Amino acid sequence: MAADIIVAVATAPGRSGIGVVRLSGGHLARLVGQLVGRSLPARHATLADFLGADGEVIDRGIALFFVAPHSYTGEDVLELQGHGGPVVLGRLLNRCVELGARVAAPGEFTQRAYLNDKLDLAQAEAVADLIEASTTQAARSALRSLQGEFSQRIGTLLRELIELRVIVEATLDFPEEEIDALRQADVRQRLSFLRDELAAILDASRRGSLLREGMQIALVGRPNVGKSSLLNRLAGEDLAIVTSIPGTTRDAIRLSVDLEGMPVHFIDTAGLRASADPVESLGIARTWSVVERADIALVIVDASAGETTADEEILAGLPAGITRVRVFNKIDLAGKEPAVVQGPGGTRVWLSALTGAGVEELRHALMTLAGWQSGGEGVYIARKRHIDALQTAVGHVQQAISHDGQLELLAEELRLAQESVGAITGKYSSDELLGEIFSRFCIGK
Ligand code: GDP
Repeated sequence: MAADIIVAVATAPGRSGIGVVRLSGGHLARLVGQLVGRSLPARHATLADFLGADGEVIDRGIALFFVAPHSYTGEDVLELQGHGGPVVLGRLLNRCVELGARVAAPGEFTQRAYLNDKLDLAQAEAVADLIEASTTQAARSALRSLQGEFSQRIGTLLRELIELRVIVEATLDFPEEEIDALRQADVRQRLSFLRDELAAILDASRRGSLLREGMQIALVGRPNVGKSSLLNRLAGEDLAIVTSIPGTTRDAIRLSVDLEGMPVHFIDTAGLRASADPVESLGIARTWSVVERADIALVIVDASAGETTADEEILAGLPAGITRVRVFNKIDLAGKEPAVVQGPGGTRVWLSALTGAGVEELRHALMTLAGWQSGGEGVYIARKRHIDALQTAVGHVQQAISHDGQLELLAEELRLAQESVGAITGKYSSDELLGEIFSRFCIGK
């Protein structure tokens, strides 16, 4: 059965020079005829009138017709590039619905591309990550995944796993034959290669997840210790304000900056004081819950005043697991030199938000704590599900190594490892997972 026709405005809402309405479906030729009054040559930009039911011209623009399977989705695709106004695009969309199309769900175009084998699952996710990228490095890394670099590495790993399974299972099928020493050594060598390769991909993916999620830093300290001043300093000239992370309370995030490619989100805790006002209390509770999930708490102290009991109370009130960095600000007043000291109580940094002395050192210390390397080359923009899958696979390969000699157990662990790795590119993915992934896309992609 031919796929039904979906339609969406592919460009962002609002006014723009050009607005694109996109359709995809099993057969679009008839709809094309009704919409532009003629047939269109494949993959040619054709200037056309986009027609309403009564023959009235809704807009005039470029029509592009991609005939299956040579299109983004693998189906027939029609792109109408008209004028980017909400009314004209809305009318065009309605006209397409009149002609039998259905308004697409978020990510539905990409989902079809996946179902028609135009992309694997990791590549489909990279499409969304590229659109949402908040730094240049995140965009580059997403594009590399989209072009298949990550998938290829996963594919190589899968092939290795399968080859090894073939060897092990073949041996299982002929138990009367002795496993010769040569074969045993081969299996061992392959297992340790797999373990190392998995660990390397996991490491690159962990760092890559920073590109996607960024690092969350809560700024805490008494009033007037210099929180705002430090924030402005850290943002620097390139007040490159990046977008906040999906799923977090946006109102708690005061500023997001690009720290050598890694998005860093600063959570403002200025309003974190006890309050009798229920509405304010709610906001405070929400901010606290964000602080609890933060990666780092920057505890700012006025170095010229020294640490006070109020500072100690703030420290004591922080969530237990959070990494603390104590910043002694205003060293220009205290007559101290900038410094970074790593100690049992965590990292301590001496700086001046006013003069900027020591701020670069703080930036560096934050990057080190995040495990981030400048530039972010060679990392894959990774999602939690990729990391979880890789971690599970590492566990199974380790188990397999420990079952050396017990071939049945070894075979089972390898099967499970293959299943986890395979889920990354989508060979064994459940419908729920697909729904979860594609529902987070923007409309029209
Ligand atoms: P916040 O209330 O913690 O956000 O503190 P502010 O950033 O508003 O700073 C409070 C005051 O301290 C302002 O007058 C700042 O100019 C001053 N200040 C902040 N950092 C420094 C510093 O490093 N040296 C000096 N001398 N003054 C600073």
